[in-house]
Amino acid sequence: MLVKKRKPKRCPRCGAERIARIQYGMPIMNEQLEADLAAGRVVLGGCCEEIDAPAWCCTSCALPLHRAPKL
Ligand SMILES: [Zn+2]
Repeated sequence: MLVKKRKPKRCPRCGAERIARIQYGMPIMNEQLEADLAAGRVVLGGCCEEIDAPAWCCTSCALPLHRAPKL
């Protein structure tokens, strides 16, 4: 499991600069979200955020990335 403090610029596996934020919950569609989805900046993670669910993922190779817990 890959844990990062911040959203990385590049995918640590494939090197693509295609890291998207995973948004959980019912999305409220608006122009900003539609643009983010179309651009691959945001992906929808489903209605329920599970424990240990990844915060980001690579949209190139689907590598999940986890946010380091705040201490
Ligand atoms: Zn990747």
